[in-house]
Amino acid sequence: MLVRRSPIGTVPRSRIPSRMMLAELEAWLSSSAAPPAIVQAGAAVLRRRASDVPQSLLGTPALAQLVEIMVETMRAAPGVGLAAPQIGVSLRLFVAEDDEERLQRVAPESLAVRRRTPLPLTVVVNPKIEVVAGDEEIFYEGCLSVRGYSALVGRAAAVKVRGVDPHGDAMSFRVEGWAARIVQHEVDHLDGTLYVDRMIARSLAGDAEMARLSGLPVSEVIRELVER
Ligand code: ZN
Repeated sequence: MLVRRSPIGTVPRSRIPSRMMLAELEAWLSSSAAPPAIVQAGAAVLRRRASDVPQSLLGTPALAQLVEIMVETMRAAPGVGLAAPQIGVSLRLFVAEDDEERLQRVAPESLAVRRRTPLPLTVVVNPKIEVVAGDEEIFYEGCLSVRGYSALVGRAAAVKVRGVDPHGDAMSFRVEGWAARIVQHEVDHLDGTLYVDRMIARSLAGDAEMARLSGLPVSEVIRELVER
C-alpha cells in the first residue's frame, strides 16, 4: 500500500521557525512508509531549492532517523547516492556509498576508466562543493528519480566538500573521479537540478541499450548518437 505524505519544507525557510521544522520532520517520520517511495521526475519537490538544515535539528533523534531511512532506501534501491528531496523531504542533506562489494561486480577496466574507487558511507548535511579540478570527465550517469534511463554528463574531475555531519560537527573532504561525480549529482538535487538538465543532448539511453553502450568508449558513443 502506498502512503501519501506531504513534502516538508515547502514554505520558504525564512518563514518557518526551526521548532516547527522539527515538528514537521517528526510528523513526516511518524507517517512515513518503510521504505519510502523514491520521488520521480515531475514532482515539484525535486525542482525547488531545499532548505538548509537548521541548527536546532542537528543532533536530534529525528534527524538521525531521517538519515537512517535515507541510507536504507539508497541501499535497497540499490543506488550509490540519495538526496533528501528524493524521498520528499526538502532539506539539504545527502547520503552516498559505493562499497567494495558492489565494485567487485564491475569489470576492472570499467572501474579504471571511470576512476571509480570505494566510497565509504558518507552523510553530509548542508554541503557546499568547490571544484578543485575543473577538467570535465564525461560518462553515462543515471538517477533513482529518473528510472529507466541514463545519459552522458560532464562532471568536474575533483571537488572539495564542506558541511557538517548529523551531529553538527564540521566536515571537509576531497573526492575525485566517480565519487566526485556522485557528490556533484547529489548536491545538484539539493538545488532542484536533475542530471537531465546537464546531459549531453541526444545521449539519452534506455536501460535496454545501456548494457551495450556502457561497454563502449565514450568517444564512440558520441560518434554514434550525438554527432550528425
Ligand atoms: Zn539522482
